[in-house]
Amino acid sequence: RRAAATVLAALDAVARVVDSHADELGRIDAVAGDGDHGIGMRRGSTAAHRAAAEAHRLGAGAGTVLSRAADAWADKAGGTSGALWGSILRALGTALGDQDTPDARRVAGGVTEASAAVRALGGAEVGDKTMVDVLVPFADALAAATAEGLPLTGAWDRAATTATAAAAGTADLLPRKGRARPHAEKSLGTPDAGAHSLALITRAVHGALL
Ligand code: ADP
Ligand code: MG
Ligand code: MG
Repeated sequence: RRAAATVLAALDAVARVVDSHADELGRIDAVAGDGDHGIGMRRGSTAAHRAAAEAHRLGAGAGTVLSRAADAWADKAGGTSGALWGSILRALGTALGDQDTPDARRVAGGVTEASAAVRALGGAEVGDKTMVDVLVPFADALAAATAEGLPLTGAWDRAATTATAAAAGTADLLPRKGRARPHAEKSLGTPDAGAHSLALITRAVHGALL
């Protein structure tokens, strides 16, 4: 299958997993934030998938499909996470480019670029109780597994397991960035909404890579 078709299948999986967890994401965000994470992620991921499908239909390569999806997500989602997810997809698209078969290490490199882009845009670091607490260990695990020579699906599987554990671990943290910060102590015992959605997405994307 062509890389652009795989990217489109991945974005379809993202939109589906977000849609089926939207209420849960809203409830988690409402514990210390404003409760709109499910709504925003649903709007963004749906728009991203739609824009990607249109670009793919016109024959675009993987990088272009991702950059159209990035613009649509940032434009339609609203909220902090919308801008950050736009930057994730944009960085991935730039790293993959429109070549037909990016290898596993190039994909891992793109995820590392995406992690750097989110930290540059949002200013959060590991420990601030944001999606960065999942994105950084996910990118590191994917880079390590591909450097060992694992094929993309096996490397992604291992990194997604790391991401799920990292998201659960955010329950023990106090938020230092974003809307949850003023209600920091209320969030103890609850994971970060954006960290949880990112972990769900990494697992769903693995299914689309198979
Ligand atoms: P908003 O906070 O604008 O309502 P969302 O509810 O959609 O947006 O997203 C909230 C999530 O965004 C948080 O759970 C956190 O993971 C992430 N987030 C918020 N601020 C930052 C930041 N500065 N850097 C990285 N991630 C952030
Ligand atoms: Mg919110
Ligand atoms: Mg909001």
